[in-house]
Amino acid sequence: MGRKTVNVGGVLLGGRKIAVQSMTTVRTSDVDASVAQIIRLAEAGCDIVRVAVPNEEDARAISKIVPRVPVPIVADIHFSARLAVLAAESGAHKLRVNPGNLGGEKEVALVADCLKAHHIPVRVGSNSGSIAPAFLQKYGRGAEALVESALAQARLFEKHGVEDIVLSVKSSDVRETVEAYASLAKKCDYPLHVGVTEAGGGEYALVKSTAGIAPLLLKGIGDTIRVSLSDDPVREVETAHEILRACGLEKEFVEVVSCPTCGRCEYDCLGLAARVRERVKGVRRSLRVAVMGCVVNGPGEAAGCDLGIAGGKDACVIMQNGKNERVSSEDAEREFFRRLEELLS
Ligand code: SF4
Repeated sequence: MGRKTVNVGGVLLGGRKIAVQSMTTVRTSDVDASVAQIIRLAEAGCDIVRVAVPNEEDARAISKIVPRVPVPIVADIHFSARLAVLAAESGAHKLRVNPGNLGGEKEVALVADCLKAHHIPVRVGSNSGSIAPAFLQKYGRGAEALVESALAQARLFEKHGVEDIVLSVKSSDVRETVEAYASLAKKCDYPLHVGVTEAGGGEYALVKSTAGIAPLLLKGIGDTIRVSLSDDPVREVETAHEILRACGLEKEFVEVVSCPTCGRCEYDCLGLAARVRERVKGVRRSLRVAVMGCVVNGPGEAAGCDLGIAGGKDACVIMQNGKNERVSSEDAEREFFRRLEELLS
């Protein structure tokens, strides 16, 4: 189903590019700390940043944050139509609310009118931990309850003429997340905010987030992603970009292909691969570079790269433009980096 396009302060959701989101971890009312963290997130490649708005001071702080940051700000509000309105009046580029907990029909209408008056979108949707009991009773726990609950939230705003809606159905269970988004994508044409909620921390959280987000992206599902980690939010942004790159949805980076090494490797392949990764980190160029452990399989496995090296005990093979050149092991790393710098210049 073709997606509608929703504009979040100049960032289009539902278009060709998948926007990366994250959320600040400092108090929104601490304007300097919020601005500093949002700038770090933007520098890491975050397209949209969400801030928590639990009270009036936080809502008002948005007016001081917005002019000082280079990315759109989303206000995350629960249980208060008044705070939602205040956040919009303070310049938030989008609201994240649950219309089911705003207080009632009158409050939903108030927020809907405010969204329309300010021409800003809203994200609604369900989380596995907070599905309304009525949906759990009707559908039981699982993807269906998430989807129906999210669609019901959207209907509450649709009724009041709100069209710019973004939907999410986040679960902390990977299979449930994938099933829910796949189903939701068929049932509506709103842009989808994709993520595995409360993925945790450490390596497992990275794998869990990737396991949930990547299969959806590969099916063309997802217009904005948030990797949710118990960590520095900059890490969320870095991980989101790595997922987009691994899925072939972001091309402007230098991919370093390297082998795991095995008993055939006779030079410092892993060390060299690490030095190459460090050199190309953050470089926005579409290149593939290979660092392979041996000349037996390396050249074949590195075929198709812009530059490659396969190491040996006395000599290495440097591969470029379809040509393989033997270079003494002593000179190989220097020559490899010389050519790499040429490619990057
Ligand atoms: S390229 Fe060579 S060293 Fe690396 S894993 Fe393959 S066979 Fe082993």
